[in-house]
Amino acid sequence: MSAQPETTRKHQYEAAKLAKRLRHQVGQAIADFNMIEDGDTVMVCLSGGKDSYTLLDVLLSLQAKAPVRFELVAVNLDQKQPGFPAHVLPEYLAARGVPFHIIEQDTYSTVTRVIPQGKTMCSLCSRLRRGALYQWAAANGVSKIALGHHRDDILGTFFLNLFYQAQLKAMPPKLRSDDGRHVVIRPLAYCRESDIAEYAEARRFPIIPCNLCGSQENLQRQAVKRMLEDWEKTQPGRAENIFRALGSVSPSQLADRNLFDFAALGAREDAPRADAHQWLAGSPDAP
Ligand code: SF4
Repeated sequence: MSAQPETTRKHQYEAAKLAKRLRHQVGQAIADFNMIEDGDTVMVCLSGGKDSYTLLDVLLSLQAKAPVRFELVAVNLDQKQPGFPAHVLPEYLAARGVPFHIIEQDTYSTVTRVIPQGKTMCSLCSRLRRGALYQWAAANGVSKIALGHHRDDILGTFFLNLFYQAQLKAMPPKLRSDDGRHVVIRPLAYCRESDIAEYAEARRFPIIPCNLCGSQENLQRQAVKRMLEDWEKTQPGRAENIFRALGSVSPSQLADRNLFDFAALGAREDAPRADAHQWLAGSPDAP
């Protein structure tokens, strides 16, 4: 037997294992957070990047055997960036037989007009993109909006908030949009970015780069991303532990008085309480 078929077999075995792992993680996240319910119309926001292609692909494969009946519709926003290959997604989606819609809205001009040259445009760009997608969802009977954020996006946001905003918060697997009209789900919440990248390559998705516009992620986000990538190599398991910790919070072991009533912990329930002013009045620093 030649070496080539053996290598190919091994490769196929690994690819099948990876696909199974991703399907399992997505199925688990959907079940844990009750992301998809019977009768849902799930809009998969497709950017042309590896994450959203993977999301659509895995949801399509789960749909066939899901315990509930749901519809999928893929939606892309053509933001009119120069050089955007507008034919790629329609061709891919038509070939796969997926119902889809392309929204055409020139958010690129708005972003480049409003953001000074050399500054990161991604934040405004994403906000405008979200607005256009949510509006389409509201007008077309969509009950769930699925985004392609994965475990490492969630961890990245967690550390950005921790390091630069002094807040202990990340990016939830499921949320209601600020205007209250939409339920947003992140079925890839348990999936590692490196797995998704490998899967996207194996499945040969026709990737469209997001940075056609020439913008870069801001420096803080880049630094956090590098930190997580370093950990993946030098501290395997650390990122996974931190992610698991996000689902295992002990409010009484932190210091947020809104989450846990520390003041109520007393030796005697009827003991009078002094406020901060009264405590500080006796200190040497008091005015
Ligand atoms: S890289 Fe460009 S297209 Fe992508 S989010 Fe940033 S500004 Fe928008």
